[in-house]
Amino acid sequence: MKKHYLTVLATIACFSAFAQQRTLLHCGNLLDGVNNSLQPQMTVVVEGNKITAVQRGYTVPAGTDRVIDLKTKTVLPGLIDMHVHIESETRRGGAIDRFTQNVPDVAFQAASIAKITLMAGFTTVRDLGGSGVNIALRNAINRGLADGPRIFTVGKSIATTGGHADPTNGYRRDLAGDPGPLEGVINSPEDARKAVRQRYKEGSDLIKITATGGVLSNAKDGQGPQFNDEELKAIVETAKDYGFAVAAHAHGAEGMKRAIRAGVTTIEHGTLMDDEAIELFKKHGTYYVPTIIAGRSAADSARTFGYYPAFVTAKALAIGPKIQATFAKAYKAGVKVAFGTDAGVYPHGLNAKEFEFMVEGGMPPIEAIKAATMVNAELLGMKNQLGSVETGKFADIIAVDDNPLQNIKTLQAVRFVMKEGKVYKQ
Ligand SMILES: [Zn+2]
Repeated sequence: MKKHYLTVLATIACFSAFAQQRTLLHCGNLLDGVNNSLQPQMTVVVEGNKITAVQRGYTVPAGTDRVIDLKTKTVLPGLIDMHVHIESETRRGGAIDRFTQNVPDVAFQAASIAKITLMAGFTTVRDLGGSGVNIALRNAINRGLADGPRIFTVGKSIATTGGHADPTNGYRRDLAGDPGPLEGVINSPEDARKAVRQRYKEGSDLIKITATGGVLSNAKDGQGPQFNDEELKAIVETAKDYGFAVAAHAHGAEGMKRAIRAGVTTIEHGTLMDDEAIELFKKHGTYYVPTIIAGRSAADSARTFGYYPAFVTAKALAIGPKIQATFAKAYKAGVKVAFGTDAGVYPHGLNAKEFEFMVEGGMPPIEAIKAATMVNAELLGMKNQLGSVETGKFADIIAVDDNPLQNIKTLQAVRFVMKEGKVYKQ
């Protein structure tokens, strides 16, 4: 008798472990990321970390179903930002941070930034460069130890000596030393292969190179090419061996063209893109990640005395304001655009302001939203898991007050955030 009783208990325990509670999201309007218009009065059914059904009308709950009332909201797929720096955030005089912060200081800051990013509705990000804390943070979030978006990270960016992502630019000589592939600094195809393999060993998800000079490094040049063709070829070929996409930071046209010809996946910023570069984008199917907000914000910051070192101030004023016009031209010419913002260059959490700037630059709201959802999901190789509110996908879902097709700014005030079926903001 006692044995039978235990068997019954075990059976019940088994059942309750398997029978997932359903969550029914009653959506006033749904912009599912596939259709170009809102669908009124819809129910999204979530079980575990997945969407298991999308139904017309407000499905009546049964049994243990939990209902989340979003009847006054517009519901969308979780947003994806292809360019953030999860470890750091701009501040006046912040160039000193790398001399004063210990690794745990960076880690606590990064964890806080991750949460801010998630609460802003960004449920997935591509982190394009930090110190290695980004890899630990990704792992901690995946294990449920920290709240944040799903992170795909490059770990450390790859540069050439003195290039935009040489981590010792502007240091006193005895502090600067001579960093190599281990630190992401290369000067030959051999170095390039080693640097990519080192990123693989450290657990990076993709590769980032700084194909031209950049604005925020303490160095004079903000746009000249910084890799030769052989180095770029070695990087892209080796990256392919490990299934890595390659993201290339580029402001100047020459370095941008070399990177596109070498076969990189995305060009970040693209500021001084010329007509030849536009044709190369289209010919190679390269994606453009504009980061308009970063350009505008860096130029604004540069007008505050002492915000940046002198080298950086001049570059930020020269390059920053140009990106929005470049975006407008590239979009009109038919270059494929992926949504990315360079968060960290401006305060994290304001990522969705980029939508407003893209719309100002001539992109219809629906396309800007798709750039941050389905387009980015596809670029991440996750189009079957992310980017839309469809059956079988991860339950990454957000909600806003207004119709974003009429008021794109509503995306800057996200009211509800669910990631993999767990509610983080309501
Ligand atoms: Zn960046």
